[in-house]
Amino acid sequence: MIWYPYTQMKTMDEPIKIIGAKGIYLHTETQKLIDTTSSWWSVIHGYNNPELNAVLKEQIDVFSHVMLGGLTHDPVEKLSDKLKDMLPGDLNYCFYSDSGSVAVEVSLKMAIQYFFNQNKPLKKGIIALEHAYHGDTFKTMAVGDDEDYHLAFPEKEGVYHIKPDKTLLENLLINHHETVAAFIVEPLLQGAGGMKMYDVSFLEKAKQLCKIYNVLLIFDEVATGFGRTGHRFVSDLVCPDIIVLGKALTAGYIGHAVTVASEKVYRGFYSDNPDHALMHGPTFMGNPLACTVALKSIEIFEREDYLSKIKHIETELKKNFNTFESNKVKEVRILGGCLCLEVYDSEDLKGFKQYALKNGIHSRPFINYMYGMFPYIISDDSLNKVCEVYKNWFKEIK
Ligand SMILES: *Cc1c(COP(=O)(O)O)cnc(C)c1O
Repeated sequence: MIWYPYTQMKTMDEPIKIIGAKGIYLHTETQKLIDTTSSWWSVIHGYNNPELNAVLKEQIDVFSHVMLGGLTHDPVEKLSDKLKDMLPGDLNYCFYSDSGSVAVEVSLKMAIQYFFNQNKPLKKGIIALEHAYHGDTFKTMAVGDDEDYHLAFPEKEGVYHIKPDKTLLENLLINHHETVAAFIVEPLLQGAGGMKMYDVSFLEKAKQLCKIYNVLLIFDEVATGFGRTGHRFVSDLVCPDIIVLGKALTAGYIGHAVTVASEKVYRGFYSDNPDHALMHGPTFMGNPLACTVALKSIEIFEREDYLSKIKHIETELKKNFNTFESNKVKEVRILGGCLCLEVYDSEDLKGFKQYALKNGIHSRPFINYMYGMFPYIISDDSLNKVCEVYKNWFKEIK
């Protein structure tokens, strides 16, 4: 028996059986469905990309895995060099994990131990945003703020949640900076917490304040990295002390993530004292297949100028929705390759998934949010079709 994610097993719908996938399409026994989820926002090039397939097959015949404990290999070295070149500022030191949640845990451990290593053990609190989602492991649940995910695990000790508001952040830091290690945010776009968007000026101010109050700034770009907001990384706009990448990093092929630290953070561990080392090491960190596919994915992203593709998706989405109105819809939010329609009442999305399926679309609304996180290769025709179906749903239930 399979225990499915985020689901009451007793009442869940029969899952859709996928027998193949190619480009933007998921294939079932009877249908070809346009996928609007990019499989939890990871499959940015679409499914079954020939170039990605080819490099993986090649690497399998070299070797599929060796641990990173005391060993190294070309794929992990090349990817680390590439990320160092690609990422802004001095975000240069790559620590790999097998999932986004673990990579966020690593970023928090880095921040807390950074101060511990300086004999500031009281600086271990974390500031995060309301509606934040940072993963499903214990510390990431604690810094997260969403009952819909973590109702049974309310433990929030040493964590402060605020709205993305400059004054609130400043006051919190004035009062608590001596016990705070880091401010962690999903920059510009809060994904699983409801596709909420806020302005870059908050991040600019946050960076200044973190510097003044000696607090590390962590960008959880597991969802926003690799173009989702229309920026390659939000870190290109405001550079944090630590960035976390996941999801699209490996183009949806193999679960992998990376926590990249700046020079300053790295130097906080680099010493003659063995106790200052970062004691962490996921079994599959730096997996050669994951690194190989990530490298090729980044190559395609750059070569095919994905940022202009994403800009185009954003323009098309805006065209589709600029005159849209429905008394059921509280807000339409569009940013880069992300569309979200927030409804007032979650009941109004009941049945939408089935309706979309009938129209050849795989969509997975959650709570009050109908969304699209499209593979960047989506054509205008397909995108417009999705938009029509999303809009028509509100005529259907009027
Ligand atoms: C998905 C996500 C995570 C968790 O990543 P997993 O690979 O599912 O563990 C963490 N942070 C953000 C912002 C995410 O969207």
